[in-house]
Amino acid sequence: MLKSICVYCGASMGKDEIHADVARQLAQEMVNENISLVYGGAHIGLMGVIADEMLRLGGEVTGIIPKNLLEKEVAHDSLTRLYIVKDMHERKAMMADLADGFIALSGGMGTLDELFETITWGMQGLHEKPVGILNVNGFYDSLFGLISHLSEQGFVQPRYADLLLTASEPKALLAKLRQAAPSDEMESKAYARFLI
Ligand code: AMP
Repeated sequence: MLKSICVYCGASMGKDEIHADVARQLAQEMVNENISLVYGGAHIGLMGVIADEMLRLGGEVTGIIPKNLLEKEVAHDSLTRLYIVKDMHERKAMMADLADGFIALSGGMGTLDELFETITWGMQGLHEKPVGILNVNGFYDSLFGLISHLSEQGFVQPRYADLLLTASEPKALLAKLRQAAPSDEMESKAYARFLI
């Protein structure tokens, strides 16, 4: 079940306003579907835009920020809850633990780092949560081109390349994530296996 989604996105706004518009649309869809937001806890760039819009619409937002970034990234002070953690590694692990799925919006190096770590954790079987990319106006076309190239060259198995979900608008991407998310029953079986 998709009750919370971790969104990775830029600590900058980007040059085209469409990126912020789509961040707001994603917030709207998530609130409509009663899905809470887990994210990096900052109040700048697209990170601030999606958190503000979720809160404005009455949604629930959990932020996780490393203490060395508290000032640099200007932590959001009105979140439902904000966790201050030791470092980037702890932030990424906690975001991944708290969420039932992941979406990358437009962003830079930090967003790509978080996205690829999440994908590779999935490849290693550390989670079975769906991962999606919101490809706004073809923003990530060149990334998909690169992934196809890596796959054609035998460095990425097609089944892993195919695991990455994508759509150009939030509603369609959420539908794909929902379809790919393990059901509650499967999750509790997986948890039971883990306990044994
Ligand atoms: P960016 O996409 O570069 O604007 O960064 C978006 C988010 O990723 C910000 O919260 C950054 O703190 C975070 N970030 C930046 N660099 C890294 C990194 N090396 N590892 C993990 N997260 C990072």
